[in-house]
Amino acid sequence: MILSGKTAVITGSTSGIGLGVAEELARAGADVVLNSFTDRDEDHALAADLARRHGVTARYIAADMSDATACRGLITQAGACDILVNNAGIQHVAPIEGFPTAKWNLILAINLSSAFHTSAVALPMMRAKGWGRIVNIASAHGLTASPFKSAYIAAKHGIVGLSKTVALETAGQGITCNAICPGYVLTPLIEAQIPDQMRVHNMDRDTVIRDVMLLRQPSRQFATVEQIGGTTVYLCSPAADQVTGTTISVDGGWTAL
Ligand code: NAD
Repeated sequence: MILSGKTAVITGSTSGIGLGVAEELARAGADVVLNSFTDRDEDHALAADLARRHGVTARYIAADMSDATACRGLITQAGACDILVNNAGIQHVAPIEGFPTAKWNLILAINLSSAFHTSAVALPMMRAKGWGRIVNIASAHGLTASPFKSAYIAAKHGIVGLSKTVALETAGQGITCNAICPGYVLTPLIEAQIPDQMRVHNMDRDTVIRDVMLLRQPSRQFATVEQIGGTTVYLCSPAADQVTGTTISVDGGWTAL
């Protein structure tokens, strides 16, 4: 299997895209480290389940990605990090003049600064092996904007810029750094919004998905966590050895509009 012998650390990987990415990396043979800020039995059970189904080593390490020391500690505690997927992210929606400063700081910390801290510790490990992959989960909102999501959009544009800088600092060293820019992906987070949207718009599920949620996604179909995972595996494959410092959109045509 193409990723046998590699260790992947995926931040924010107890649900949604992070868990989907971990699943596909494990399927490709990578040992995986799952992460979130909680430390519950079910978090560790997720890792045990991945290990059992894919025959890899899987661990769960609790670390709060809003905290610089914890971000750095996650990579140190993992002990190895050949593949780093910076995925942890949160959202808050409000106009700028009413946007709480605490929320702005938290979103910038989790969605952007965490990737700076984890990368800073992982890069020497990657350089020592002459191989490494950093995959930052940005968003279509890393390339375009929408109103009322100022912190999220600033952070996602920021992580696209950080990806380019890391790519330049590692060029020719067997290390690549790229950002995946998903459009809407049907994760538990998004699924939970559907009943509210149906109520507010007085529409059935299919209509609210097509005409409200996926209005800017020309395919009018959600991307899936498996597709984001598959794109990550591609970026870790030899076919992508010269793909660095760029973005890959998985957005059903959103950014072509
Ligand atoms: P999700 O809420 O299902 O998963 C987020 C994960 O991050 C969870 O495991 C959560 O426990 C973890 N997390 C939250 N705060 C954390 C913290 N302080 N420390 C450590 N872990 C923390 O969300 P998702 O939809 O899977 O989103 C994952 C990433 O993908 C985010 O960066 C998000 O911005 C990005 N994204 C999502 C979509 C989408 O439509 N779902 C689209 C584009 C980009």
